Amino acid sequence: MKFISIKQAMEKSSGEVMIRGWCYRARSSNNLAFIVLRDSGNIIQCVVEKANVSDQAWEAALKASVECSLEIKGQIKEEKRAPTGFEISVSEINIIGESDTFPITKDHSTEFLLDNRHLWLRSRKLSSIMKIRSTVFSAIRKYYSQNGFYEMHSPVFTPNSCEGGSTLFEVKYFDDIMYLTQSWQLYAEAMIYSLEKIFTIGPCFRAEKSKTSRHLSEFWMAETEAAWHRMDDMIKNSEELVCFIIKEVIEKNSEELNFLGRDIEKLKKVSAPFKRMTYTQALDLLKKQGIEVAWGKDLRTIEEDEIMKNFDQPVVITNYPKEIMAFYKPEDPKNPGTALCFDFIAPEGYGEIIGGSERELDTEAMKKALIKQGENPEKYQWYFDTRKYGSVPHSGYGLGVERVIAWICGLDNIKDAIPFPRTMIRRTP
Ligand code: ATP
Ligand code: MG
Repeated sequence: MKFISIKQAMEKSSGEVMIRGWCYRARSSNNLAFIVLRDSGNIIQCVVEKANVSDQAWEAALKASVECSLEIKGQIKEEKRAPTGFEISVSEINIIGESDTFPITKDHSTEFLLDNRHLWLRSRKLSSIMKIRSTVFSAIRKYYSQNGFYEMHSPVFTPNSCEGGSTLFEVKYFDDIMYLTQSWQLYAEAMIYSLEKIFTIGPCFRAEKSKTSRHLSEFWMAETEAAWHRMDDMIKNSEELVCFIIKEVIEKNSEELNFLGRDIEKLKKVSAPFKRMTYTQALDLLKKQGIEVAWGKDLRTIEEDEIMKNFDQPVVITNYPKEIMAFYKPEDPKNPGTALCFDFIAPEGYGEIIGGSERELDTEAMKKALIKQGENPEKYQWYFDTRKYGSVPHSGYGLGVERVIAWICGLDNIKDAIPFPRTMIRRTP
């Protein structure tokens, strides 16, 4: 006989089964012990009757404590009063790993749970989120491969900044200093000349000094870069990706979404094309809501949230002021002073989930922008080479995977979207 999962056992619904997992709850009386067992898929009630089992089995049942690991053999049957509608009448039970008193019970502070993240990951809340996280990653891969993109990779150690020096992590690199990657973009731009359409999913590192519920110092970004693509092509591609991710999660994780108390109807409503507006139009909208933002200032979280009060779907904001954008974002010839760039802002207060743009082709313009930011253009010589040999229009974007997970799951804080969060003040476990 082979071990099967709790789900498989419930599908079988009758007869003898062998399952294994961890003790979720246990209580016993003189001659009866109830053990709720959990595995990665579900929980099930198991009943041990002293009169029907060996002394060893009865002893094991009494010894079982929360989070010890167990192997159980018994007869499964439907039982309406049991937590998941089935019950196993146990014939054999073995403790595989005993458990000390589990430190996590009820009503702990957020900080306590973060300190014990390695254990708190076993909770139904976090395991539901992590299952959705897994679906999001596979949906991203599926979407791109169905659309002819190659999965590619860039180095984590980088000699250059991509998104500006203020959030760079320095690392000692032999006798020198390097930086942890903030984005794959500069490398991606070199790779499109052979593969044309590429994507990656990888960790990015930014020394975010602000303590927001949306920033991690280590997060995962799904990035894409494509030759011949203009901003409009990339916006459409991003819209399709977001809709595809949501569709896959609804299809595969309705159980988890329900457990998290997420209103699935709100997610079902998400459909492309999304509402579009320029940065300038966004300022007009804010003005109508009584908020003045001087043209040229970046939109802050509070302003994004204010705009999103009007929408229940993501909104695409384009044409931010050229001056405040990264050096590789080109000016829009049709709208001087603004860049050919776009951000996707998620509804329900989840903020920016995607940032993208066309890429500057004029090397001199980039050098000027870099100098203005206090950077040394010499260090970017290899990157400028990409513009020297058969340059083509191209565009790309990055999707913050944890931001999307936080939105889909309806989380209060982005930290719960990743197994072991890293922020300025959180680096353990
Ligand atoms: P923000 O203004 O929110 O800091 P950004 O403009 O710095 O975002 P980009 O450089 O455009 O972000 O990065 C692409 C995407 O990566 C963002 O749209 C966002 O979803 C995600 N992202 C950026 N920084 C972080 C972070 N510190 N933690 C988690 N996700 C992030
Ligand atoms: Mg940022």
